[in-house]
Amino acid sequence: MAETMKAVVMHGPRDQRMEERPMPKPAAGELLVKVEHVGICGSDMHFLEEGRLGNWVVEKPLVLGHESAGEVVELGPGVEGFAVGDKVTLEPGVPCGECFPCRAGHYNLCSKMSFMAIPDERDGVFLEYVAHPAKMAYKLPENVGTLEGALCEPLCVGLYAAQKSGAWLGQSALIFGSGCIGLVTMLALKSAGVHDVTVVDVIGKRLEKAKELGATAVIRGDQVDAVQAALAATEGRGFPLVFECAGHPAASLQATKTVAANGVVVLVGMAADPELKLDVATLSAKEARVETIFRYRNLYPTAVSAVAGGLPLAKIASHIFPFKDLVAGMLYNMDHKDEVIKGVVSFV
Ligand SMILES: [Zn+2]
Ligand SMILES: [Zn+2]
Repeated sequence: MAETMKAVVMHGPRDQRMEERPMPKPAAGELLVKVEHVGICGSDMHFLEEGRLGNWVVEKPLVLGHESAGEVVELGPGVEGFAVGDKVTLEPGVPCGECFPCRAGHYNLCSKMSFMAIPDERDGVFLEYVAHPAKMAYKLPENVGTLEGALCEPLCVGLYAAQKSGAWLGQSALIFGSGCIGLVTMLALKSAGVHDVTVVDVIGKRLEKAKELGATAVIRGDQVDAVQAALAATEGRGFPLVFECAGHPAASLQATKTVAANGVVVLVGMAADPELKLDVATLSAKEARVETIFRYRNLYPTAVSAVAGGLPLAKIASHIFPFKDLVAGMLYNMDHKDEVIKGVVSFV
């Protein structure tokens, strides 16, 4: 195998460079994986555009990308249950397994988490090969490609949001935001039997995608009052399930105004400002719950089997960029936010 590989390294805002890195060696318990597809996440775009996301600041060179799948090319010592040639999707967060949240089973809240493409945690996967713990890798069945494998990461977010809402068969849902996370939340809800899903966004192209993937109705938030439209659609009752997937403060406030009695608002999107304004009077009068989520836990096997069972995850990808064009592709993505719903990097 070659001594070096290519990696795209972020050095500062709008500054990524293709560089040579030493070929990684799989340590005990690790797989060496040849990366085939990586989804470009909103968090990657935030890091590249502003050099930060919330409290995370990129101060040292960092490889972005955390939604990946590829082929196993080497097994580290002691690895069982995998073979060279297996296609796998990689769960990007490696928890310590020993801290209080880990021992309580809440490993996504690990206090020593090592998550891909997070400053001071671990590098991401905008590179050709990655060594990753086998315990955070999941084999893909033959009918699931590595593009879908990569998109299992955001799908886990949607599955977790649906799970936290406690969605029931036959309920109706309102989703603010029709980007990747809004769309995977809709797919997760539909597979849980919530077929009546209304989606709000301000970008027409995204709402067309939501319709293509099965939204019952859409609301153009820039053309009508989204709260009035959502209430009118439910004879004033509001929706039992409301999801904020836009990462926008206005949408969080609207979400709390459109929930039905005994309903739930799940805050999924992350806004730049940590403080939000919510309509607590409406929430109280309706005895509505507010739920938050942080990434996901224990959901990769569910995501893989949902896709194997026919969930149309690949349709979310709107743009495929070859790895060699990644630097230019992400700048294009940044400057054409209205056009790119979900970019995916391809190495094959
Ligand atoms: Zn992501
Ligand atoms: Zn831990």
